[in-house]
Amino acid sequence: MIQENIDITRRHTFGIATRARAWADYSSVDELRILLQEAHKQQWAYMPIGEGSNLLFVKNYEGLLLHSAIKSLNVTTSLNNEVLVQAGSGWIWDDFVAYCVAQGWYGVENLSYIPGTVGASAVQNVGAYGVEACDVIESVTLLATDTLKECTIKASDCGYGYRTSHFKGDWKGMYIVTAVTFRLSTTPHYTLDYGNLHQWVGDTPTLQGVRNAVIEIRRKKLPEPHELGSAGSFFVNPVISREHYSKLQEKHPDIPCYEIDEQRVKVPAAWLIDRLKWKGKSLGGAMVYPEQPLVIVNTGNAKAGHVVQLAQDIAFSVLMEFGIAITPEVNYIY
Ligand SMILES: Cc1cc2nc3c(=O)[nH]c(=O)nc-3n(C[C@H](O)[C@H](O)[C@H](O)COP(=O)(O)OP(=O)(O)OC[C@H]3O[C@@H](n4cnc5c(N)ncnc54)[C@H](O)[C@@H]3O)c2cc1C
Repeated sequence: MIQENIDITRRHTFGIATRARAWADYSSVDELRILLQEAHKQQWAYMPIGEGSNLLFVKNYEGLLLHSAIKSLNVTTSLNNEVLVQAGSGWIWDDFVAYCVAQGWYGVENLSYIPGTVGASAVQNVGAYGVEACDVIESVTLLATDTLKECTIKASDCGYGYRTSHFKGDWKGMYIVTAVTFRLSTTPHYTLDYGNLHQWVGDTPTLQGVRNAVIEIRRKKLPEPHELGSAGSFFVNPVISREHYSKLQEKHPDIPCYEIDEQRVKVPAAWLIDRLKWKGKSLGGAMVYPEQPLVIVNTGNAKAGHVVQLAQDIAFSVLMEFGIAITPEVNYIY
């Protein structure tokens, strides 16, 4: 099951030349247990990986990458216009979304075309067009990496927040997601009030129409991973105090924000970066994507160091001009 000393350049979407000590695909929880036992025995570091679409390998990975190929699908309940569907962690996220849309299940259509896997969606709390995975996740099924026992945790206990969860924080390394259960609706309801989605779908939306619109908009704005390497949005949108925001408005009256609560607002990192004219600027093989300044792309021969340096330079300039510390959304892997 284990392939050693492997080239993983094409197994993460940045496409930066990288090798790993070992790689293994597993298609059942029992296979995953065997792999974890082996990693413990060999005293290898290990890490779950999906499509590698939110990773920056800063150097070669000196451990075992565990790749889920668990593609189970179970409709556990269908009641009161709702369906509970459990998908294995190895499903490609967008295949899962396409399947749900084809079944007439509402809830994940706004998350169409996000790269990655079902397993990672529950770790990252993926989001787009006003919907986050945690809005529809019912529970997450996991394998504990120390006891090798399976457990299921309710979404309300997973610490979900904007692009985060306990799996990325306090619980990092403790669990591997093996399946995710989603609560979807069989009656039409849409979330169209984000960006220009309403404009695209018109006043008589359909489930498939929303999916098609999201895909079309995303294709215009974001690089296709197989054409131009990237890890999507490089930085998280920062949350700042209203006081800080008011001060910034004095110099930048057009600075946008989204309401968070009475004390805080969220500022689009893309706007901050754009205002500082980073679009299209490059360092070595790393470039700020001209269509979307939140994305750093690999123009072909980028090294991880180029991306790290460019990201640091961007963050420093944002800090100097706006007094805001922007942090990477991308997971740096050492
Ligand atoms: C072009 C592009 C556009 C993007 N657009 C969006 C967007 O609109 N919204 C958004 O939220 N994200 C977006 N992303 C980021 C990315 O698609 C998501 O973060 C996605 O969930 C990553 O999935 P993955 O399978 O590739 O995970 P990976 O990148 O392989 O891993 C991400 C993290 O999850 C962990 N992980 C992976 N699988 C498991 C598992 N089974 N159990 C436990 N931990 C696991 C990894 O260890 C790592 O810490 C985009 C990326 C790209 C390249």
